[in-house]
Amino acid sequence: MAPGSKRPLVAISSCLLGENVRYDGGHKRDPCIAQYLSAHVDWKPVCPEVGAGLGVPRPALQLVGAEDRPAALGVENSSLEVSAALLEYAQRMLPELQAVSGYIFKSRSPSCGLADTPLFDSEGHRQALTAGLYARVIVATLPGLPVIDEQQLRDAGRRTRFLQQVQACWQQQKNAGS
Ligand code: SF4
Repeated sequence: MAPGSKRPLVAISSCLLGENVRYDGGHKRDPCIAQYLSAHVDWKPVCPEVGAGLGVPRPALQLVGAEDRPAALGVENSSLEVSAALLEYAQRMLPELQAVSGYIFKSRSPSCGLADTPLFDSEGHRQALTAGLYARVIVATLPGLPVIDEQQLRDAGRRTRFLQQVQACWQQQKNAGS
């Protein structure tokens, strides 16, 4: 929480705000986020794949292997493995994320997905849905942080609950700092 801030700081997958950080140089701006949330919070955009040094554009990634320990591999070239870079970046971000009161993740991403990222076996068959490598570290290490993805935010009830949780978290952070 920034000192003296008037609104909670919420981390967000930066492609959802329209930043051109995706593997193909594009974005995934979500109008619902701007429409419903931008008036209530300040943003801390984070792209873990860019933060981990993978560049834009970059090879598309997918998760492969066991559900409890998948690897982030190149879709076209499975000898490209970036798991360690993503996990290390997540650890590096943890101190900065002490200042946020919520986190909005991009669904289905091998880095940012909360629970709906496709997981493949070594033959290329989809075997489950799971969390992205970066998101799973953040969620496991900061269990009190309100989290949601942009698909869940489309539901008015979930959106309202998320904002309430963010406000409560922000209030707790202010109380702890006073
Ligand atoms: S890594 Fe996350 S923030 Fe970056 S482009 Fe992919 S989904 Fe968006």
